[in-house]
Amino acid sequence: MFNLILFGPPGSGKGTQSEKLIARYGLKHLSTGDLLRSEIAAQSPLGMAAKSIMDKGQLVPDEVVIEMINSALENNPQARGFLFDGFPRTTAQAEALDKLLAQKETEIAVVLALQVSKEELISRLLNRGKSSGRSDDTNELVIRSRIEEYEMKTAVVADYYNKFNKVVMVKGEGTIDEIFDSLCDEIDAKTEA
Ligand code: ADP
Repeated sequence: MFNLILFGPPGSGKGTQSEKLIARYGLKHLSTGDLLRSEIAAQSPLGMAAKSIMDKGQLVPDEVVIEMINSALENNPQARGFLFDGFPRTTAQAEALDKLLAQKETEIAVVLALQVSKEELISRLLNRGKSSGRSDDTNELVIRSRIEEYEMKTAVVADYYNKFNKVVMVKGEGTIDEIFDSLCDEIDAKTEA
């Protein structure tokens, strides 16, 4: 199996690049944001509880997203590998993911960390909010809270994987295709090694 984490702040392009990467490498895309939004669309109790947290720009509890990822791994036993997008977002989530993957006798091969300036993130998210229908993308205060949550709780996840030498920084500004090419170069370097 080949498992990778696409890492970066809100608005860094993880969703866009994930779609292209899963198509090229035949990976199963696991986005906790997408999973949560399907729960909201289904109006499940989990979705309703998550929505009020997401609309404030905060992180939903670790147990909730860890359980969602656990089920997704169980439901895809045939996958060639997974691309994690928006997960793990805390050190506790990273530790839980490592355990779940170890039970399947696999691990994270690489963490690709997209680098984008804060001004660019805010402008991309406000722009996305005009058409995405995502309530967390329309209010600049919510966007700023999400970036703050990232800085306070999620940025340290890169330090966690850095201990295992798994993090590669990739410039997240430029055209979609330029960024995709840089990501593919890093993946190819890892898989050929
Ligand atoms: P973005 O990367 O633009 O913030 P996501 O779709 O990844 O978009 O996440 C949207 C929201 O869903 C987050 O602000 C957060 O409230 C919640 N969320 C998604 N993934 C996680 C996670 N792994 N842990 C906690 N909350 C999460």
